[in-house]
Amino acid sequence: MDYNQILQEIYEEIQPYASMGAPASYIPELQKVNPDHYGICLHTLKGKEYAMGDCDERFSIQSISKVLVLAMGFSRLGNQLWKRIGVEPSGNAFNSIFQLEMEKGIPRNPLINAGALVMTDILISTLSHPEEEYLTFVRELCGCDDIQYNEHMATSERETGFLNAAIVNMLKYHGNIKNDVEEVLRFYFLQCSIGMNCRELSRAFLPFADHTHPFSFGGTTLTTSQVKRINAIMQTCGFYDEAGEFSYLVGLPGKSGVGGGIAAVCPRKYAVAVWSPRLNAKGNSVMGMKALELLTTKTAISIF
Ligand code: GLU
Repeated sequence: MDYNQILQEIYEEIQPYASMGAPASYIPELQKVNPDHYGICLHTLKGKEYAMGDCDERFSIQSISKVLVLAMGFSRLGNQLWKRIGVEPSGNAFNSIFQLEMEKGIPRNPLINAGALVMTDILISTLSHPEEEYLTFVRELCGCDDIQYNEHMATSERETGFLNAAIVNMLKYHGNIKNDVEEVLRFYFLQCSIGMNCRELSRAFLPFADHTHPFSFGGTTLTTSQVKRINAIMQTCGFYDEAGEFSYLVGLPGKSGVGGGIAAVCPRKYAVAVWSPRLNAKGNSVMGMKALELLTTKTAISIF
């Protein structure tokens, strides 16, 4: 497969979409990013890297962190997790609160904000040094030891994060948050604030595509079956209320973030990360989605 040629063709074919959408504006720091960035990087399980565009510039991974937090929690709690969180697509916006009220504080899945806030609470209860251990896990996954939290980004989000504060308080009311709500919010915003570039993100997701080597990084170990289940959750819940659309157009498990990044895996083949800050109305990168649709169309490989 000539991935270099395919990435080049994708770049040319997505140009008509270059000015569509807008960067997230509800987190003030995200508005400062140049919206015209575009980068894509793919790592194969055979050890090859293919990159194009702005692949070395770090951006805020935002909700892509939810997959990594899920991996840490699933490793430690196993199926006990599912007493506090479901595995169903929500069909609602990532930060929706009304479903949580109707369903008595049990979030639909770990990849929406409510679910990630419960996962964050679980990590705080389970780990001795959650902030350090999360960073160690991410650094080991991508093999890069200067990955950092962006305190400025996290603070910027806390200052305007009224809806997330409401969600965590609703969860607390229903007994699904055990720790202090401010502590949970702080750690949650820090996870989202992490800066990674496309190369690092793609490398970090490669172990989720690998069914032959044990998943073991920074104290987080997952069985093959657990990796399969995380992929299933990405497939059904990774794109907010556009998960069906992404499945239909792209056909890979993945996760997006409002920083404009998308990480996706082609099980047993490759991981890919794409970044373009302009988002569609559902909060997913316009060019990122189109690029991945073209990738699975041109390679004629997806999970379907
Ligand atoms: N930190 C963001 C929030 O909680 C993450 C949202 C996202 O990337 O989907 O609103």
